[in-house]
Amino acid sequence: MTAEQLIFAYVLVMLGAVGLLTVAEMRRRTFGPTPSDDHVFRCDGCGFLYTDDPDVDRSRCPNCGRMNDMFRF
Ligand SMILES: [Zn+2]
Repeated sequence: MTAEQLIFAYVLVMLGAVGLLTVAEMRRRTFGPTPSDDHVFRCDGCGFLYTDDPDVDRSRCPNCGRMNDMFRF
């Protein structure tokens, strides 16, 4: 194996690694910070941020007990 072939192989490996990282990053961004379907709520009373099951539209704040609507980004 010549030096050129070594460098070529090295560049190919690096490009492959960068490509994999890019794909992983894009997938992570597509799913966002919450990979689950849980609804996100923010308490109007105390500002507490929490999640609840995806089948509920209103949820009780675990911090102060106030009922809150679903938080939309
Ligand atoms: Zn609260």
